[in-house]
Amino acid sequence: TLSFRNVWVEFGDQVVLERINLEIASGTFLSVVGPSGAGKSTLLHLILGQQRPTQGRVLLDGKPFPAEPGPDRGIVFQRYSVFPHLTVLGNVLLGYELAERGFTARLLGEPRRKAIEKSLALIEAVGLGQHRDKYPSALSGGMQQRLAIAQAIAKRPRVLLLDEPFGALDPGTRAQMHALIKPLWRDLKMTIVMVTHDIKEAFGLATRLIALDRTRHDPQAPERFGANITYDLDLTRDSTVPV
Ligand code: ATP
Ligand code: MG
Repeated sequence: TLSFRNVWVEFGDQVVLERINLEIASGTFLSVVGPSGAGKSTLLHLILGQQRPTQGRVLLDGKPFPAEPGPDRGIVFQRYSVFPHLTVLGNVLLGYELAERGFTARLLGEPRRKAIEKSLALIEAVGLGQHRDKYPSALSGGMQQRLAIAQAIAKRPRVLLLDEPFGALDPGTRAQMHALIKPLWRDLKMTIVMVTHDIKEAFGLATRLIALDRTRHDPQAPERFGANITYDLDLTRDSTVPV
């Protein structure tokens, strides 16, 4: 379980997140929606460990995260999540290396052979089997996002963070990505936290949906108020629409 306990994030005078209390059970597929600037990416950065709360705590199974973002968390952005100087295979292999050895050393010998085998299976699973030796610049946007997901998943993260991962893709490619991500989430039993502006996607993929928005406006200090959770829907119980 991921827990936010009374979390505030402020940048200088600006309160971005205000009093966030949130429990995300392991295995949840959570969609996060809300207006631009509401603090959705900030929420992901808190989970990633890239952002420290000004106040409050973010915990995984009751314990604080390690200070450094580790392989237990993976993230995929709207674009540019992969390394341009590595091939498809190189990118996914790096994911496995990070999971095994952190940033300290490369895999060699038998462990490396095994990691290559697993990387190739994963590349096959995301439909990039024909492209294993290509560089990202030679791939379409949808292929690059599939690669980014494969690399993030190779780390075997407990928590996968998706920040508008399909936002730059055309509708057909988006539909392909939806068909890819849901079974991966189910098979790997990860927790996914996905920020999206696409309301159909938010409802269609997730088991739970939260909306972040400004909630309180103190007239004494109009510029100092942050976002909080304004909706919290359990999509396994409420009726859902197919993507
Ligand atoms: P979008 O939908 O446009 O991606 P968002 O909900 O992801 O928006 P955030 O990126 O979390 O919003 O930003 C929330 C607010 O915090 C914005 O006003 C932004 O300018 C501010 N902010 C975010 N990161 C920083 C930072 N490192 N330093 C200062 N201000 C920041
Ligand atoms: Mg954002």
